[in-house]
Amino acid sequence: MSRTPRILLFYTGGTIGMVKSPNSPALMPFDFGDLEAILPELEHIGCSIDFEVLDPIIDSSNMQPAVWARLAIDIYNRLDDYDGFVVLHGSDTMAYTASALSFMFEHLNKPAVFTGSQLPIGITRTDAKENLITSIEIAAAKGFRGKPLVQEVCIYFEYHLYRGNRTTKQSASRFEAFDSPNYPALAEAGVDLKFEENYLMKAPKLPVHLHTDLDTNVIGIKLFPGMQAKHLKHMLDTPGLKCAVIETFGSGNAPTAEPFIESLREAQENGVHLVNVTQCLRGRVQMGRYESSEALLDLGMVTGKDLTFEAAVTKAMYLLGQGWDGRSFKKRFEKSLRGELTD
Ligand code: ASP
Repeated sequence: MSRTPRILLFYTGGTIGMVKSPNSPALMPFDFGDLEAILPELEHIGCSIDFEVLDPIIDSSNMQPAVWARLAIDIYNRLDDYDGFVVLHGSDTMAYTASALSFMFEHLNKPAVFTGSQLPIGITRTDAKENLITSIEIAAAKGFRGKPLVQEVCIYFEYHLYRGNRTTKQSASRFEAFDSPNYPALAEAGVDLKFEENYLMKAPKLPVHLHTDLDTNVIGIKLFPGMQAKHLKHMLDTPGLKCAVIETFGSGNAPTAEPFIESLREAQENGVHLVNVTQCLRGRVQMGRYESSEALLDLGMVTGKDLTFEAAVTKAMYLLGQGWDGRSFKKRFEKSLRGELTD
């Protein structure tokens, strides 16, 4: 007889855990000990659920790599005790946390499902209840020989399950807060919960390994017409900088003016890794396709292919944290490590 799935639910902060204060219009965090009172459906979901609350809870704008590490260690230490993990997180930086954790966990063999909501759980029209209930169902779903169906870090939001490191927050107001522009949804919740098994990560053959060292000597730079080369140079001259993720135009294009290219060349000579990701939501970097990206190709810039910005910066932190440098950084960055890019 199969036993009741055990799920660990973490609340880190954000809208999903808010209710209306009884005495004022303000929202306040609600007590997770009362979750079954606000969500009686949980009793019928067929899972045993334990709770943990981050101390202190944070708006996800205050998320930090140290908290990613705490969360990852907490999950890692309980991998044998639970069938799946659901992390309630503010939506603003959820795609960064999900991307970071995907790199921190090598050979993850359990589901870690992030979710949140656009309206607090205590509001009548809330999207929180469906997001939370379905995330728990996903975290408890079993596949071949009773193994977890999902064995990766994902985000569930508004009827779609996405690979975490493929997501980006696309809306501050629609219930469809997230998009996975360059990789299909892993599951869709309609009348049935329909998994796309071909798109899920394959079960790992090696034991899970946790890497918590991240190096944050990384910056992101978004190009725009009119940007001055001296400003670019100033950013790239930041002491201690190891990687700049540069959001370029279209398929990886940038201004061709010599002072601009010279700033990049100088940074590279100083050992700063330059990563090329596109500002476009969909599609990929193809340096050399246009004349306006030939100089970047000649410089040997790292191609971000179809990575999201969120995945690119967290991947850079992860690789630098593991001590990869020089050519090995570029080689590893350009390869898919956790399904985050399309080769
Ligand atoms: N500002 C909130 C946060 O990201 C928004 C949300 O919870 O969705 O923490």
